[in-house]
Amino acid sequence: NTTLQRKLSHLSGLREIDVSIASNLDLSVTLGVVLDQVLAQVGVDAATASLLDPHTLTLSFTATRGVTKAALLGTTVPLGQGVAGRVALTRQPEIVNELPTNPSSALGQALVNQEGFTSFAAVPMVAKGKVLGVLGVFRRQSFDASSDWLETLQTLAGQAAIAIDSAQLFLELQRTNLELGLAYQDTIEGWARALDLRDKETEGHSRRVTEMAVGLCRALGVRDAELVHIRRGALLHDIGKMGISDAILLKPGPLTAAEWVEMRRHPGYAVELLAPIKFLRPALEIPQHHHEKWDGSGYPQGLRGAAIPLAARAFAVVDVYDALTNDRPYRAAWTRERALAHLQEQAGSHFDPAVVQTFLALEGDAPTAS
Ligand code: C2E
Ligand code: FE
Repeated sequence: NTTLQRKLSHLSGLREIDVSIASNLDLSVTLGVVLDQVLAQVGVDAATASLLDPHTLTLSFTATRGVTKAALLGTTVPLGQGVAGRVALTRQPEIVNELPTNPSSALGQALVNQEGFTSFAAVPMVAKGKVLGVLGVFRRQSFDASSDWLETLQTLAGQAAIAIDSAQLFLELQRTNLELGLAYQDTIEGWARALDLRDKETEGHSRRVTEMAVGLCRALGVRDAELVHIRRGALLHDIGKMGISDAILLKPGPLTAAEWVEMRRHPGYAVELLAPIKFLRPALEIPQHHHEKWDGSGYPQGLRGAAIPLAARAFAVVDVYDALTNDRPYRAAWTRERALAHLQEQAGSHFDPAVVQTFLALEGDAPTAS
C-alpha cells in the first residue's frame, strides 16, 4: 500500500513537471519544479541542476534547492572535472558517501562546513542520446542502500532532460523564425526600393505610408498579429506600377483616357506578382484594394463601404495624404492643411468617414513633417 502511494505521488510529481514543461519557457523555473520533486521524492536535503554548454564544455548551475546560500548558482565546472563534470562525461551515476572533511575547493568547503552535507550523488540528464546536464543531490547522512532512490532520481533526471531539450528546441525554432522574418522583410524592402528607382518622386513614399498605415491601423483596433501583414502590404502597395510604362508613370501632365486604363491596372499587376507568394497572401488586401472608394466609384473592383477591407480603407487615406503633400511629376506638393482639408471633404465619398476621423485625430495635431 505504501508502495502504491509512493508510486502515485511519484506519478503526480511527473505530471507536475509535464505541466511546467508545457507552460514554462524559462528553464530555471522548470528545473526548479524538477528539483522540488527530487526533494519530495528522493529524500535528500538539497538538489542542484547544472546545464552543459556544448560550446564551452562546461557545466553551469542553473537551479538549486535546499542550499541555504545560493552559493552554487552561476558557478561553472569544466566537463570531466569534479564528480558532476565526470558524470557528464561518462554518463554514469556517481555516489560519494563520505565527502572529504577537508575539500580542496572553496565551494566544497562551503558545502561541507556551512551546509553540513556529508554525501553527494549525481546522475546525467540525457535526452535523444545527448547529455544536457547533471542532476546532483546532497544529504547530511549516507544514502540508503536498500531503497530505490537512485532509480527515482534517474527518472526525474530523464524528465528534466526532456524539459531542457524542448526548451532548447523552442528557442532554436524561434531564432530561425526571427531570422526568416528578417530575411522576408529585407526582400520586400528591396522590391519597394526597386520601384523607387523607377519613380524617383515616390522615393521615401513607401516608407512613410507604411509607418503611417501601421499607426492608423493600430489606432483602428487591428490586432498586433495582423500588423505584420499591413506592414508588408503597405510597403508593396504600388509594386504593380512596375508594369506601367515610363511614358505613363513619369508623364509630367494629366493622363489621357487610354493612359488611365493602363494606370488603373497597377493593383491587378500587384496581385499577379504577389499572389503566388504564399507568405504575402495575407498582405494582398492593400496592393489590391487601395484605390477602391467608399462610395463604390474606385478601382479595380468598385467595391463599396465595408466590402472594402479595413486595411485598404485605412491605407487609401494615408496614401492620398502622402501623395498630396509631396511633389509628383504631374503637380507640386500641397500644404499639410490643404491635404487634411481634402481628406475631410472626401470623407463619405472617397474615404470611410470613421477612418478619416481617426487619421485626423492622429495626424491633425502631430508636428509638421519635413
Ligand atoms: P500617386 O501619385 O501615388 O497618387 C495616389 C493617389 O493620391 C491618387 O490615386 C489620388 O487618389 C491621390 N492624388 C494624388 N495626386 C492628387 C491630386 O493632385 N489631386 C487629387 N485630388 N488626388 C490626388 P489615383 O488618382 O487613382 O492615381 C493613381 C496613380 O496614377 C498615381 O499615384 C499616379 O502614379 C498616377 N497619376 C494620377 N494622376 C496622374 C496624372 O495626372 N499624371 C500622371 N503622370 N500620373 C498620374
Ligand atoms: Fe496606387
